[in-house]
Amino acid sequence: MIFGWFGRKSAHKEKPTAKEDTSSMANARIIDGKAVAAQVRADIAAKVAALKSANGFTPGLAVVLVGEDPASKVYVRNKGAQTKEVGMNSIEHKLPAETSEADILALVDSLNKDPAINGILVQLPLPKHVDAEKVLNAIDPGKDVDGFHPVNVGRLWIGEAALAPCTPTGSVILAKSVQENLSGMNAVIIGRSNIVGKPMAALLLRENCTVTIAHSRTKDIASVVRGADLVIAAVGIAEFVKGDWIKPGAIVIDVGINRVEVPGGKAKLKGDVAYDEAAAIASAITPVPGGVGPMTIACLLKNTLQAAQMQHRLAITA
Ligand code: NAD
Repeated sequence: MIFGWFGRKSAHKEKPTAKEDTSSMANARIIDGKAVAAQVRADIAAKVAALKSANGFTPGLAVVLVGEDPASKVYVRNKGAQTKEVGMNSIEHKLPAETSEADILALVDSLNKDPAINGILVQLPLPKHVDAEKVLNAIDPGKDVDGFHPVNVGRLWIGEAALAPCTPTGSVILAKSVQENLSGMNAVIIGRSNIVGKPMAALLLRENCTVTIAHSRTKDIASVVRGADLVIAAVGIAEFVKGDWIKPGAIVIDVGINRVEVPGGKAKLKGDVAYDEAAAIASAITPVPGGVGPMTIACLLKNTLQAAQMQHRLAITA
């Protein structure tokens, strides 16, 4: 799938002076994550409609929320709304914070067995008395739309059909919206977490990139990043990646979401990349917010459709 939505915005509001080197002031393409995510959802909606008319079948996504975490409640509400928007069934299980691990495992087991449920997502974090790993590993790998189950992790790495984690999947779609063929690119991922950095490496290997994973023990990280045609920042430190680390013309995907206090006591969201500096040098860059963020739920819906298709061996013709 080829996406072409990106605006062109000036990263520099001021005109360059005569003495400045204007070649380094090139404006990066701003990759519009909201527009790309809307296109992904439209594509899913068309496929869901085709499934319904050909097979009378509607995919279903079950989301399990335990407790009252305010951020989790917002995520679950957004997931439910977007699931319905693409024509899928959304089934929410809201359980009190004191629900026992055994009861959560029993619910997961019943969802695993329910043919109307094609995808299961257990919203994290779970309360402290619950072993999150045990719960996530109890999800049927075929319904594991978060892509965290060890079976899916293994399948992803050995190149078999797998449900892959949503944020890295969305990041790769954004990079491909700028350059459809990533083959041969030097990709540097900063961060080696199980939910972003590592699966990102597996997905970029599938795209035939030469992949480097940098992390907290990497020596001279600036020079490692300077060799990258594609930079993926997933560090969790605001503006960690500086503009002069970016190779001219590189594509920059900023996964980071950091809440930073600004004067007046308010908070602002910042990415892991020093945006203005990098936008002056990169060929394309994702903003924060409005870049990778909107892709995550879109890719969750993509995984739910893929899971339904695999479970029912249904052809999707739309
Ligand atoms: P994490 O804390 O699990 O991992 C951070 C990684 O950064 C680690 O592997 C660590 O080695 C590396 N790191 C830490 N300090 C470093 C340093 N000084 N130099 C080099 N590497 C360093 O975080 P995560 O869950 O992978 O998330 C990373 C960022 O992405 C966070 O800002 C998070 O909020 C964001 N995120 C966004 C989405 C989304 O939907 N857009 C989803 C998940 C995570």
